[in-house]
Amino acid sequence: MKMKKADVKPFKEMLLVLRARLRGDVSTLADAALSNAGAGGGGNSSVSNHIADMGSDTFEQDNTILLMNNEGETLVQIEGALERVENGVYGICLECSGKIPKMRLKAIPYTPYCVKCASELESTKY
Ligand SMILES: [Zn+2]
Repeated sequence: MKMKKADVKPFKEMLLVLRARLRGDVSTLADAALSNAGAGGGGNSSVSNHIADMGSDTFEQDNTILLMNNEGETLVQIEGALERVENGVYGICLECSGKIPKMRLKAIPYTPYCVKCASELESTKY
């Protein structure tokens, strides 16, 4: 069930970039790294603007919308994800121990849950 180190690496980099951005360390560097990692699908430099415009019904939970919503909580999630990277359990759902699809990790690299569990836990966790 574990992800290979080589598979985890790009996500770890994304997490480090996200953490840096949330801490206010960098922004342009973060954007570049994120698009390199394939997170935004390319050329998506206005994530935060999009989020401001989006109604909750227009986007599935499984998307980048969570990125800027609650920065303090997001930072905690990112720290947790980096810990899971170090422990070799990154990409495994904390709830059901199932594998979290890479597509989901690309959208929300710090998510601790698979799609199914996240939707079940959504009301309390997100
Ligand atoms: Zn799960």
